[in-house]
Amino acid sequence: MFKRLLILAAILSLASFGCFPSNNKELITAFVNVNLVPMTSDAVLQDQTVLVKGGRIEAVGPADEVRVPRKATIIDGKSAWLMPGLADMHMHTQYDWIGPAWPVNPLKLYLASGVTTVRCFGPLESAPEHVLKWRDEIREGKLPGPTIYSSGPILFGPVPDPEGAVRGQKAQGYDFVKIYSYVTEQEFREVMSAAKEEGIYTAGHIPFLVGLDGVLSEGMDDIAHIEELDFEFLDLKPDMAMSRFAIFRGLVGQAASKYSSDLDLGANMLEEKYGEAIREVVSKLISKDIPICTTLTVSEGIVNKLSDPKAFIARPEIKYMPDAYLKTFRLGQEKHQVLLKGYEALGPFKYNMEIILAKELKRAGITLLLGTDSGTGGMGIVPGFSIHDELRILSEVGFTPYEAIRTGTTNAAKVVGKMTEEGDFGTIEAGKRADLILVRGDPLRDVANIREPLGVMAAGRWYPEEKLKGMIAINK
Ligand SMILES: [Zn+2]
Repeated sequence: MFKRLLILAAILSLASFGCFPSNNKELITAFVNVNLVPMTSDAVLQDQTVLVKGGRIEAVGPADEVRVPRKATIIDGKSAWLMPGLADMHMHTQYDWIGPAWPVNPLKLYLASGVTTVRCFGPLESAPEHVLKWRDEIREGKLPGPTIYSSGPILFGPVPDPEGAVRGQKAQGYDFVKIYSYVTEQEFREVMSAAKEEGIYTAGHIPFLVGLDGVLSEGMDDIAHIEELDFEFLDLKPDMAMSRFAIFRGLVGQAASKYSSDLDLGANMLEEKYGEAIREVVSKLISKDIPICTTLTVSEGIVNKLSDPKAFIARPEIKYMPDAYLKTFRLGQEKHQVLLKGYEALGPFKYNMEIILAKELKRAGITLLLGTDSGTGGMGIVPGFSIHDELRILSEVGFTPYEAIRTGTTNAAKVVGKMTEEGDFGTIEAGKRADLILVRGDPLRDVANIREPLGVMAAGRWYPEEKLKGMIAINK
C-alpha cells in the first residue's frame, strides 16, 4: 500500500512538473508579426518581431528586419498585442501555498494573470525562509512562478535588537527590510542606520510614533500603502499601550466619531473639504522621490465586503481562496468585518480619501507602484486576479492605461533596480528579462484587455493559454 502511494506521488509530481518549460540557454522563441507595446513610450508598434533566447530578450524590431533562426519556436502574434509582464509590488507569500490549504498554488495564479514579478512585503507565519527557497528555485527553473523579491519577517515593533534584526536579514539574503506601524522612534532610527550601513533597502508603513516627517528625514526608501498617508491629515491618536489589533480598532472608533458628519459625503464634497490638507501632505513627498505602493484594491474590497458581503463572496475568482477564509468570512469573523464592526460607514469615507490621494500623488508625479496586498489568505484578495482590479481602479481614478501599466512595469523596475540592481525588466527591449504577456486587445486602450492573456512568458518560459488554464484548474 505504502509503495503504491509512493508511485502515485511520483506520477503526480511528474504530471505537475514533467512538461514545465525549461529556460535552456539555447532555447529560442520568436513572437512574430505582433503589435508591440514596449512601454518605452505611449505607443504601439505594428508588425514587430521579438526574439527571446534563454531568459532574455535578444532582439526587437520590424518583422522584415529581425531574422528568425530556423530552430526557434514561433508564436504568431498577428492580431495580438505583446506587453511586458506585470509586477505586484506589495504582496505576501505564505508557507502554506504549497499544500492542501489553497485550491491552487498562488505562484500559478500570478503567472496565469500575467504577474511575472512579485515583491513580498514580509513572508507570513512560521518558517519565513520558504520565500528564499522559492525565489531561488524559480530562478533555477525548478519551480514555475514569478520572479520573487522579498523582505525578511516584518519588524512589527517593538524591535528589541534593531541592529541585529537588520544585519540578520541582510545575512540571510533578503532583499529589503519591512518596517511596521508599531516601531518606536528610537527603534526606527536604529533600523535605518543599520540598514544604511548594511546597504539594504527599507520599506514599510509610516510608524505611528515616527510620522511622515520622520520617515522622510531618516530616508526610508519606500512606503507600503497610499493608505498610510491617511494618518497625516486625519486627526487620530493611537493608544500604543493596547494590543496590535486594539490599536487599529481604537483608531477606527476615533475616526468614526470624529468624522461622523463626513461619512455621507461623496468623493467630490470630501475633495472640497480635505483637498488642501491632502495636497499639503503630498507636497512633502515631491522632492524626496519616495515611491508608494497603491493597494487600493484593499480599500475598495473593504467597501464591497461590508456593504454587500454576498456579492463579495460570489466573485468567480473567490474559489481560489482557502476554504478557511470562506468559512471565516461567512461567520462574519474576517479581519475587516471584525475591525470595522459597527463602523461600516467608515469604509467608503476611507476609500474616497485614498482616491483623492491617488489623484494628487499622480498629479505631483510621485512614483506609484502597482500593489495589491495579495497572498495572505486573510483579506479576500485573490492573488493574480487582484492586479487587474488594481489597474481598473487606477483607470477609474483617471490614470490613462499607459500610466496605470507603468506602475507595474517601468516604475516597478526602477524600484527593484534601486533595491537589488536587477531592474532589467518592465519594458520590451533587447537585454531585458523576458517577462511578457500576449493579449487579445490593445492594453493602451483599455487595461481590461490584459485579463485572460493568450499566453505569458516568465523569465523566458512560455505558458500558452491552454497551459495556464490547466495550471489553475480546480479538480474537486
Ligand atoms: Zn501588506
